[in-house]
Amino acid sequence: MEDKPFWQVTAPHRDPGRTLDAELTCDVAVIGAGFTGLRAALALAEAGSSVAVFDAEDVGFGASGRSGGQVNPMLTVKRPGDLRKAVGDTYFERMAEVSLGSADALFALVKKYGIDCEARQKGWIRADHNPKAKAVSRAAAEDWNRFGAGFEFIERAEIERLTGSPTYDSGTVSAKGGAVQPLGLVRGLAKVAEAAGVKIYAKARAENLERVDQRWRMSVGGKSVRADRVILTTNGYTDGLFKGLRRAVLPLSPVQIATGPLSEEELAPVLPEGHTISDTRRLTMYSRREPNGSVIFGGIGYQRLVERLGGFQWLLRDAPRVFPSIKPESWRYRWGGRIALTHDSTPHLHEPAPGLVAGMGYNGRGVAMSLVMGKVLAEATLGAEIESLPFPVSPVEPIAFQRTQVFGAGVAMHALRMRDRMELG
Ligand SMILES: Cc1cc2nc3c(=O)[nH]c(=O)nc-3n(C[C@H](O)[C@H](O)[C@H](O)COP(=O)(O)OP(=O)(O)OC[C@H]3O[C@@H](n4cnc5c(N)ncnc54)[C@H](O)[C@@H]3O)c2cc1C
Repeated sequence: MEDKPFWQVTAPHRDPGRTLDAELTCDVAVIGAGFTGLRAALALAEAGSSVAVFDAEDVGFGASGRSGGQVNPMLTVKRPGDLRKAVGDTYFERMAEVSLGSADALFALVKKYGIDCEARQKGWIRADHNPKAKAVSRAAAEDWNRFGAGFEFIERAEIERLTGSPTYDSGTVSAKGGAVQPLGLVRGLAKVAEAAGVKIYAKARAENLERVDQRWRMSVGGKSVRADRVILTTNGYTDGLFKGLRRAVLPLSPVQIATGPLSEEELAPVLPEGHTISDTRRLTMYSRREPNGSVIFGGIGYQRLVERLGGFQWLLRDAPRVFPSIKPESWRYRWGGRIALTHDSTPHLHEPAPGLVAGMGYNGRGVAMSLVMGKVLAEATLGAEIESLPFPVSPVEPIAFQRTQVFGAGVAMHALRMRDRMELG
C-alpha cells in the first residue's frame, strides 16, 4: 500500500505555496492554512483587512487536506441536554442552530464561490452497531429532531440497500449530510481567499509570538512579522506557539485507507445512492464512495512514538466485514492525520490575550464546523461583541492527564477496539 492521502490523486492541482522572504506587516496574521484559518482569512479580506496566512507546511497539510470529507451537521455531543449542560441555555440555542445548519452553510459557500471539490449533499447514514447502540442513538436523534436535525430512522432492509453492508440492522439518516473532496475544498478556499487579497505562505512556521507595543510580533522562517491581530487555527497540530494551548486539546489520530477505481462487481453494492456512512462504535468506522469509483474507509488509529501512525491493520480487518464485495487486495492508499478533542466535546473559542483569538477542538467533526468557526473568528477579530457570538469564550485550560493520554493513546485504542469487537458478537 502507498503511504499517501488518496485526495492528492484526485484534487485540483495547486502549486507549492510561496515562502516569506522579507519582513511583513499586516492587519491580521492567521496561523494555520486549513479550513478554519482560510475561512477566517477570506471573511477578513472581504471586510477590507490585509491578511497573511502562515502554515508550517502548506495549504491543507493538516487535517483539512487529509480528512474523511464527510459533511456531518452534528456536534459529537450525544444529546441536546449534554450540550445545554456544557454551555448553558443561551449558547445551547446558538450552537445547536449553527451546528445543525453547518452542512447547508458549507454547501452554500461552495456554490457561492464555485469551488471545485466534488461537493454532494446526498445524505449521511449513522449505522447502529448493536441493539443497545440503536436505542441510545434513536433516543438522541429524537431529541435532536426537536431542534430541527431532521433525522429519519431506517431498519434492516433499507440500511442494507443503502449501504451494501450486511452488518447493520438499523440506523439514522440525515439528508443534510454529504461529502466533499477535502483537499479540493481547502485548495479551493485558498484560491478564493487569494483572489480576495489574502497572502498565503507555506513552510512558514510561526514562532516566538509576543505582544510588543499593542501589536503582535512573531518570527516566520527567520523573518519578522508584525500584525495588529492574530488568529490561531492549528487544531490537532497545535505546538508551543501560544503558552498552554497545546495542552488545552487532546490530539487523536484517525486513519484511512482507499481503493483505486473498483470493478463494477466490487463497487455496485457499496453506498449506491452516494450516502456517506459512519457507525456508532466507540472507535467509529466511516466510509464513502468516490466519483471515480474508489471507496474510502476510515477509523481511529494512534500515533506511535516515532511519528508513525498505527491502526491500519484494524481497518484492513474490518473492511471486508463491512463491505464484503471489496477484495482485500483492492486497498491501495493509507494515511492519517491529527484531530483535536476537547473535554466537553464542543469546539472551543479562546481569547486568551488582547487582539488574539483561537478556534479549535472539533472532536473529529470539523469539516463543516471549522468553516463556521473560521467565520466567527473573523467576526471576533473585526470587533463583534464577544458575547454575541455563537460560541462561548473558553479559558485555555489543560485537559486532565493530557500528556498521559497522548502517550497512552495506543494502549487505550487497543482496549476500546476490543470492547467494540466484543459488542459485535
Ligand atoms: C483522518 C481524518 C479524518 C477526518 N474525517 C472527518 C470527516 O469525515 N468529517 C469531519 O467533519 N471531520 C473530519 N476530520 C476532522 C477535520 O478534518 C478537522 O476538524 C478540520 O479539518 C480542522 O481544520 P483546521 O483548519 O482547524 O485544522 P488543520 O486542517 O489541522 O490545520 C492546522 C494547520 O496548522 C498548521 N500549524 C500548526 N502549528 C503551526 C505554526 N506554529 N505555524 C504555522 N502553521 C502551523 C499545520 O501545519 C496545519 O496545516 C478528520 C480528520 C482527520 C485527521
